[in-house]
Amino acid sequence: MKYQCPPGMKDLVSEAALFRKLENDFMETLLNSGFQEIRTPMLEAKELFCRSVGEESDIVSKEMFETLDGLVLRPENTAAIMRAVVANQSLIPSNLCYFAPQFRKERPQKGRLRQFYQYGFELIGEAAPEAEIKSLILINQLFAKWNLSQYEIQVNYLGNTEDRKKYLSVLTKFLQDNKNSLSVKSQSRLTGNVLRILDSKEELDVALLKSAPKILDYLGPESQKEWQLFLELAQLAKIKLTINPYLVRGLDYYTGVVLEVVDLSNNLGSQNALGGGGRYDGLSQALGGPALSAFGFAGGVERLILALNLSEIKTNSEKIGLISNEAETIPLFMELKNKFATLNIDINFNYTLGFKKMFKRADKINCTKVVIYGSNEREQGIVKIKDMKTGTETIVSGRLLDLDLSTLG
Ligand code: AMP
Repeated sequence: MKYQCPPGMKDLVSEAALFRKLENDFMETLLNSGFQEIRTPMLEAKELFCRSVGEESDIVSKEMFETLDGLVLRPENTAAIMRAVVANQSLIPSNLCYFAPQFRKERPQKGRLRQFYQYGFELIGEAAPEAEIKSLILINQLFAKWNLSQYEIQVNYLGNTEDRKKYLSVLTKFLQDNKNSLSVKSQSRLTGNVLRILDSKEELDVALLKSAPKILDYLGPESQKEWQLFLELAQLAKIKLTINPYLVRGLDYYTGVVLEVVDLSNNLGSQNALGGGGRYDGLSQALGGPALSAFGFAGGVERLILALNLSEIKTNSEKIGLISNEAETIPLFMELKNKFATLNIDINFNYTLGFKKMFKRADKINCTKVVIYGSNEREQGIVKIKDMKTGTETIVSGRLLDLDLSTLG
């Protein structure tokens, strides 16, 4: 075939109704919880993501689709939303949500696409730990709505700048001392942001990292207090959490609590992160805005669908067909369709086809009943109704426009 869908991207046809349902479910839950929808442009200045997500992150260093004039297709939505909030400070404080496509030039595989949808939300201007607890409750509420139970919420605490500085020097020393046990890729990261090495899934690294120092052991008293309070509140709210002391997430803007929702159904293979988020109190200032506390979460729609083991949902596509061999009938059919606007009615305009072909088409598009009003019926003052399942025809005498389509069923 000459033109194909670009790699890592998909035409959504049979899945479209499922996407619509998930979006409706998500928006209903969020709007009922006081959130407001935000839609930002698909294209943003490249610099926005360099400043926020970080130059050294995989996303920025190699996964962005760039245009000739320095714009990129957004790889994620948080930075764009913060850009919008900084530009429009009447949005502070606000709870914002989105269901939107994101773009990353990754190597496509199961659960990893180049255009994928995220459902996400941001609590802007909300301090810890309230925003964290609210978000966790929402995540559990959404997954309950989607009947997803096989998942685990992993959390970690990245502390403040001071804590991270202290931890980084200890971690760097540990990794330098064990350089030869690291993968080549991680060795090359020793001169950059070494925190990212903790994200590595390489076998060699995973083995070494089991004995690496943990950030939770390097928190100052203030951070300790906040982390403990967060854990206590989560327990009070009956939120089950798993502490993963090596969870750092790949983006530069996180501070404080970070979380990842991990799928336990085994339906996802190696790409088992259903969603992730964290606190990003420094992002507003990094983008030239005021000091602002904020917490956000984003989940992947395609991975949610894989975890739920759904490929499509059945929508009721049953129709009533109206067919005739006369052009004059078309306005009458239109009138009938308007009268029964809530019914799923298909009019076959192509009266030159002949009845045989019109029936064939009606069957193909799932018409369960077909109303026949051709020249013969008009002359006899009758309407014929064919049951497409049984093949039986019923004759109704009277005007076509008096026919009650709602009783055909
Ligand atoms: P991130 O913005 O990287 O924290 O991603 C949040 C969530 O989006 C992940 O946990 C995945 O569920 C989903 N996601 C991220 N990248 C992709 C991708 N390339 N294809 C499909 N889903 C993705």
